[in-house]
Amino acid sequence: MPGHFICDLPIGKKSKAIIARDRKIISGCTMRDQSIVIKDGKGCYLTDVEGRRYLDFGAGIAVMNVGHANPYVLSAIRRQASHMTHVGFADFFHELPVIFSETLMKTINNKNLDNVFLSNSGTEAVEAAYKCARWHTKKKRVIAFDHCFHGRTMGSLSMTNSKPVQRERYAPFLPVTHVPYPYWYRMQMEPEEASSFCLDKLEKAMKNTDAAALFMETIQGEGGYVVPPKSFVKGVRKLCTQHNILYCDDEVQSGGFRTGKFLAIDNFSVTPDIVSMAKSIGGGVPIGATISSKKIMDWAPGAHSNTFGGNLVSCAAGIAALNYMKKKKLGANAQRIGKLMMKRLEEMKEQHETIGDVRGIGLMIGIEIVKDKKSRKINPNGRDAIQCEAARRGMILLGAGKNVIRFCPPLVITRQEAERGLDIFEESVKATCH
Ligand code: PLP
Repeated sequence: MPGHFICDLPIGKKSKAIIARDRKIISGCTMRDQSIVIKDGKGCYLTDVEGRRYLDFGAGIAVMNVGHANPYVLSAIRRQASHMTHVGFADFFHELPVIFSETLMKTINNKNLDNVFLSNSGTEAVEAAYKCARWHTKKKRVIAFDHCFHGRTMGSLSMTNSKPVQRERYAPFLPVTHVPYPYWYRMQMEPEEASSFCLDKLEKAMKNTDAAALFMETIQGEGGYVVPPKSFVKGVRKLCTQHNILYCDDEVQSGGFRTGKFLAIDNFSVTPDIVSMAKSIGGGVPIGATISSKKIMDWAPGAHSNTFGGNLVSCAAGIAALNYMKKKKLGANAQRIGKLMMKRLEEMKEQHETIGDVRGIGLMIGIEIVKDKKSRKINPNGRDAIQCEAARRGMILLGAGKNVIRFCPPLVITRQEAERGLDIFEESVKATCH
């Protein structure tokens, strides 16, 4: 089998052939950990080309909140595609991007956030926030956190500080000051101790840099599903206001009701100045949105733009996805199922030496796999082994950080599906770590 997978699953003939063709033509930077070739998806399940079924706890990297092949979203896409797919929103008006933006604003429901710039991906939504902040403040430097992930285009990448390979050979970067994020478990500190330590460092950085903006994932995603203490998020808001620095909230992964609330930052009762969203708000098609106020989005026409922002199929899918999430109360389901999962995971933590920490809000849950509880030493091999074993047993899991397993299933997940996933996860832990 060409290529290298962390997960050595038995591969059937069809998968083997497709992977070989893929390896020949798809650029090598496109990384795949598992040798699974997907054919179909429905709700919380994926099926591969060999006909094997998997319970999906990854949701296409926190995208398919509405579930795979959601009929409501698919019919909106079909309806729009049968009329017209693209208008060139940078040159012409069309009602659909306006309806999408109005729906998004109604869902956010914050009078301080009333202006939208549309794009196609998470990194673009962050780039737009970055450029908007620089335009508005006329300043150059920004502040971001250790282990953060904001995307891979050069502006976002200048902030991204998650894995060395993502930055290797790409310097020079745009001016960014990195400060510690309260990853208290790994810092071997209590949450409040880590919070004041990091706020102190942040304040010093703010005093020493004339920064335009601060970028923060309310819950760090790729860095390891790290939930900061409430006092930290509130403290960041306070410091940004005191130092006249724009608070840019990256909700690309955590947004779309994943944490119960539409924006993860709503769990902390904090209002940011600029919000970046993508992933789930398109219901499975590419979309990005940068949201702020008319006052901050004071850039001149043409100061930023793109070809595909406001694409009609994306907007139709996005409207359907947002309406579906609200109508079906997926936020409430994320809270309910998330609680159930956390309870079981806490019990597992007591029983298994390899589970060092369990954390999360709603259905954004991180499980820290360690060598032993006392040392808290990271156990990347243990993490990979659990991920593989789960795949063998019919469940898709994604990693985050060096040694964390993330649970980010579609928000349509039922109690039975959640319990089945937890059973498979525990069996996989038992099979690999004892
Ligand atoms: N910001 C966050 C928090 C993310 O998790 C990601 C992707 O995982 C991005 C930005 C970049 O999004 P995209 O891959 O759509 O460019």
